[in-house]
Amino acid sequence: MSAEFAFQRGLVWLRNDLRRQDNTALYRAAKSCRHIAALFIACPQTWRSHDEGDPVVAFRLACLRELQQGLAERNIPLYFLELPKFEQVPKALTQIARRLEIDALFANAEYPLNEWRRDTAVREALKKIDVPVEYSTDRTLLPPGAVKTGSGDAYKVFTPFKRAFIERCGGSEFAPLPQPRVMDEDKVWPSWIAVEAAHNLVQTIPDQLRGYGAVPAKNGQLLGWKPGEKAAAKRLRQFREDIDGYADERDFPAIDATSRLSPYLNCGAISIRQCVHMALQLNAGQWTGGSDGVSCWLGELIWREFYTHLIAAFPRLCMHRPFKPETDKVPWSYSEADFKRWCRGKTGVPIVDAAMRQLNQTGWMHNRLRMVVASFLSKNLLIDWRWGERYFMQKLIDADFAANNGGWQWAASTGTDAVPYFRVFNPYSQSKKFDRRGEFIREFVPELRELSDDEIHCPPPSADYPPPICDVGQSRKHAIEVFASLR
Ligand SMILES: Cc1cc2nc3c(=O)[nH]c(=O)nc-3n(C[C@H](O)[C@H](O)[C@H](O)COP(=O)(O)OP(=O)(O)OC[C@H]3O[C@@H](n4cnc5c(N)ncnc54)[C@H](O)[C@@H]3O)c2cc1C
Repeated sequence: MSAEFAFQRGLVWLRNDLRRQDNTALYRAAKSCRHIAALFIACPQTWRSHDEGDPVVAFRLACLRELQQGLAERNIPLYFLELPKFEQVPKALTQIARRLEIDALFANAEYPLNEWRRDTAVREALKKIDVPVEYSTDRTLLPPGAVKTGSGDAYKVFTPFKRAFIERCGGSEFAPLPQPRVMDEDKVWPSWIAVEAAHNLVQTIPDQLRGYGAVPAKNGQLLGWKPGEKAAAKRLRQFREDIDGYADERDFPAIDATSRLSPYLNCGAISIRQCVHMALQLNAGQWTGGSDGVSCWLGELIWREFYTHLIAAFPRLCMHRPFKPETDKVPWSYSEADFKRWCRGKTGVPIVDAAMRQLNQTGWMHNRLRMVVASFLSKNLLIDWRWGERYFMQKLIDADFAANNGGWQWAASTGTDAVPYFRVFNPYSQSKKFDRRGEFIREFVPELRELSDDEIHCPPPSADYPPPICDVGQSRKHAIEVFASLR
């Protein structure tokens, strides 16, 4: 073996890190192995049990396809394997490692509980055949557990977490890692014959998986989103031009003022480091101060980090449990009829309906509206927030367990550092404040297009629109009483 490389053959197990640039596992494998190949394992049955829906899975596969081409340009083959469940992964990887004579496995760490368990089982299984497994920190800037309170606990409140997090980052620029080197063309490993014998590995990435449906696609876009690393990088470049306006405009759903990078960050078509590096460069290396737009955006990226650190520190969050156990005593409603109206955007409250239709049509919803509709479901309708959480997972193209669970538990006042239970969003005031002229409502609720800017927020009975599903004032009062009685 050449002294240059620690290993002859390394396998990179790709998951939600679908990019060639700045991919820690890929970079480390290419540095330490003479030959590398990549593998993606789809587990549709487990993904379904995690409520991952058609949009997020279709987008993941489309990004994977783009990456396969990108890796081929570097002579790195990417194979695909479909196994129904996570539980089957350790055995399959053991067989593949044996048959392809792999010397080391590289992957980027994932933090939801079942992913964590799967990865631990893989490490143990491969240890038995002397194949080391290296999991890198890549989804977050700092590994969960790295930011602790003075007494060594995980932070439960965002603001002190943010302070400690920035301090812990210690002025790092988070310079992105280079992409892997081009492998020797004449020595591409493994040979296709060996791969075919290894397991049911294939090179063709399917459009659809067992149990998953198709997603509307047009001009290479899924639900209007262009998959892949190149599209993600382009979006980041575009957002760089607009970032200074982010703090002032990010709450207005009719303005395209946020980065819309969430689908890419979620499947890893762009890395958190690439985003932070760009923002810090613009802000003379500062996380706070400087440009309001940049520091505000960096703050949102820290929310993402916070929620990921939280699920790693408190695994009960991955078990459908509220952070605040007493909130399990809320007499949640399980009205299928109300829930259906909410899902379909037919509640009779225009801003809620417009937001839900945006979700259903585009796989994405503006952050302000995610808060509004989540509050409406969990407070005004008093429906179990877990129903809303599940629906979002099924419909969002950026569905991310940590951020989604965090957002829902925040809005439902069941989470740590959640909105206080007595502060219930009034959808009408939110609508008047953040969609003053009703532009957003008009885009998604065309039947209200002709109403005046005043009437559109709360259509008069004469309008051809269903009456509101609930009395917002009364239901708010009721929710506050219910939560107060838990104390
Ligand atoms: C009920 C609810 C559910 C949510 N579900 C998800 C989800 O499944 N996936 C998801 O990525 N985000 C989720 N969010 C957070 C947020 O709404 C989205 O990240 C954001 O709207 C994505 O748009 P953007 O990329 O333009 O964000 P920007 O405003 O440009 O922010 C940049 C990035 O920061 C991160 N981010 C921003 N806000 C938050 C936040 N509050 N919490 C965690 N990360 C944040 C995202 O990665 C986002 O892409 C949820 C929020 C709520 C209130």
